[in-house]
Amino acid sequence: MPLETYSKKRNFSKTIEPKVKSEATGKNIYVIQEHNASHHHFDLRLEIGGVLKSWAIPKEPPTDSKTKRLAIKVEDHPIDYADFEGEIPEGLYGAGTVKIWDKGTFNPIKIEEKEIIVKIDGKKLKGLFVLLKTSFKGAKNTWLFFKKKE
Ligand code: MN
Repeated sequence: MPLETYSKKRNFSKTIEPKVKSEATGKNIYVIQEHNASHHHFDLRLEIGGVLKSWAIPKEPPTDSKTKRLAIKVEDHPIDYADFEGEIPEGLYGAGTVKIWDKGTFNPIKIEEKEIIVKIDGKKLKGLFVLLKTSFKGAKNTWLFFKKKE
C-alpha cells in the first residue's frame, strides 16, 4: 500500500484533497505546488512508480545552478494530486492554500534510492535537476535539490 500514509494523514470527509484512486499516467508528470500552510513552502512532485514522489522545499525552487535547496521527503501522493489547487480547511493536515507554481513533464535520467536526476520540462524549471539524499547524522528524509550545470 504505497499511499497508505497519505490516506492515514487525511480525513476525506473533511478535506478537499483527492482521494486515492488514480494510477500511473506514463506521462512522467512534474509539478510544484506552492503551499501557503503554517510554514510557507513548495511541494515538488514527480510521477515515479505510479505515485507522485514528493518533497517539501522550504524556499523558492532553484531556477539557476547557483542555488541548492533543502528538500524534505514526504509521503507519496496520488497521481490526481498533480492537478490539485484549493484551500485545505483550517484544523486539518496541511491547512492552507495550494496553488500550482509550475507544471510539466520530466525525463528520468537516473532514478536510484539516494540520487534522482531528471530533465525537467516545466515553465519555470527547465533542464537537468538533481535530488540527492544527504547523509547528515540522524537525517532520514533530508535531500538536496539543485540544478545541474550544463
Ligand atoms: Mn505541502
